[in-house]
Amino acid sequence: MKIIMLGAPGAGKGTQAKMIADKYAVPHVSTGDIFRANIKEGTELGKEAKTYMDKGLLVPDELTVKILLDRVAKEDCANGYVLDGFPRTIPQAEVLDKALTELGDKIDYAINVDVPDENIVKRMGGRRACLACGATYHIEHIPPKTEGICDRCGKELILRDDDKPETVMNRLQVYHDQTQPLIDFYNAKGVLKEVDGTVDMKDVFNAIVAILG
Ligand code: ADP
Ligand code: AMP
Repeated sequence: MKIIMLGAPGAGKGTQAKMIADKYAVPHVSTGDIFRANIKEGTELGKEAKTYMDKGLLVPDELTVKILLDRVAKEDCANGYVLDGFPRTIPQAEVLDKALTELGDKIDYAINVDVPDENIVKRMGGRRACLACGATYHIEHIPPKTEGICDRCGKELILRDDDKPETVMNRLQVYHDQTQPLIDFYNAKGVLKEVDGTVDMKDVFNAIVAILG
């Protein structure tokens, strides 16, 4: 099963992708997580990606596409995956489509997690992330058991640099300009599914499970 999560930054793509990955036993592939891991390790890729991410801009397609294609070529992706944060532009979607077609394969579902802009800014300010294991929390809606500490691995939680309000506004603009057109792209392919992302995360997940079966 090959799934793409669509939606604005902060819509809950990562939260749902992790739950899908657990239930359906497919890897959760997040380009944002791959970039953040590289930033943490201080790699050349991380240094370059950071210059864009800190401004709320997209990392250039050439770089992002290569990283994604390398990742999904790995053994653990052979039976499927859930993509979170990729594709984010039409050219990225076209490259993925071409690579899959060459393998006689295709995306099964593109799930759009729909959340209006007003809700997004509040959500991002409350998001806390664990850079060690990738878990995500929200200080009000999905709090960790101990404030500031990851339930899963016990490491410290942080407010992402790109979740500061001024960067969030840029990211939302970039989303509307460059990523939202993907909704029509996948609708035209007959694989688009919409879920309401404003309800409790468990109810969002139930709606997704009703789609995936
Ligand atoms: P994305 O991967 O789309 O950027 P996240 O999954 O990281 O978004 O979610 C953004 C923030 O909103 C996080 O703090 C997360 O804990 C919180 N969140 C996710 N789903 C919900 C929900 N259904 N209701 C309220 N808050 C949510
Ligand atoms: P995310 O964790 O998905 O919110 O991504 C954080 C940031 O990483 C984005 O704001 C972009 O700067 C960068 N990024 C992640 N995925 C992509 C992508 N597919 N294309 C371009 N930039 C990306």
